[in-house]
Amino acid sequence: MLDFIFPNVCVFCESVSEDGLVCELCLRDIKFIKGLFICSRCGVPFDLTQVSKEYLQFPQEVPIYEHFCGRCLLGQFYFDKARSVAFYDGLLRDMVHKFKYHGKLKLGEILATILMENFPNDLDAPDLVIPVPLYIDRLRKREYNQSVILGINLCKHLRVCLDPFVLKRIRDTKPQFEIKSDNEKKENVRGAFFVKDFDKIKGKTVLLLDDIFTTGSTVNECARVLLRAGPPVFKP
Ligand SMILES: [Zn+2]
Ligand SMILES: [Zn+2]
Repeated sequence: MLDFIFPNVCVFCESVSEDGLVCELCLRDIKFIKGLFICSRCGVPFDLTQVSKEYLQFPQEVPIYEHFCGRCLLGQFYFDKARSVAFYDGLLRDMVHKFKYHGKLKLGEILATILMENFPNDLDAPDLVIPVPLYIDRLRKREYNQSVILGINLCKHLRVCLDPFVLKRIRDTKPQFEIKSDNEKKENVRGAFFVKDFDKIKGKTVLLLDDIFTTGSTVNECARVLLRAGPPVFKP
């Protein structure tokens, strides 16, 4: 009866939605990465219009399962593999924004479902999921770490443990989206993380979870300190 008087409406288009969060039609706006031609290492989708005609004519000469982008060929990343689920624009961008900055925690459930339903199938099963930590002051202000919320749901699905205490952010950093150049982004997070408990990651395959991946500087810095903390966690 209450639903009839106050029907559940989509937070974006205000049409009636079953759960009162995001309607089916709006969800269709999300552009997924699954099925696209991506870098084998960092997962960045290639723009096929930029691939030379000769390459498209003789694709068998470069096996698709081992195709790297320029940054990966230059060896810029410490992590073994990075994968993203969807493009950060349009509705998804709004969802992440509302979830992260406007306390719409319920959207975390939808985001986690999107993550699980589109979880890349070329990732090794991790032993442990580590969410990228927030600096303590930021956590106090926001009251939650969006990556922990996504991680809790993901871990239930993958049946692995989440450990938000292994890695600590030891200083505040500017939000990466406020910084334009790649080098400044790298500098911004350099030395910002510390591995508190190496024993928990020793010999394990770790899946680092962050809500947004743009240049990869944040997860790369996390991977760097995790690897430096002891024997390799990620496969070379
Ligand atoms: Zn809608
Ligand atoms: Zn790459």
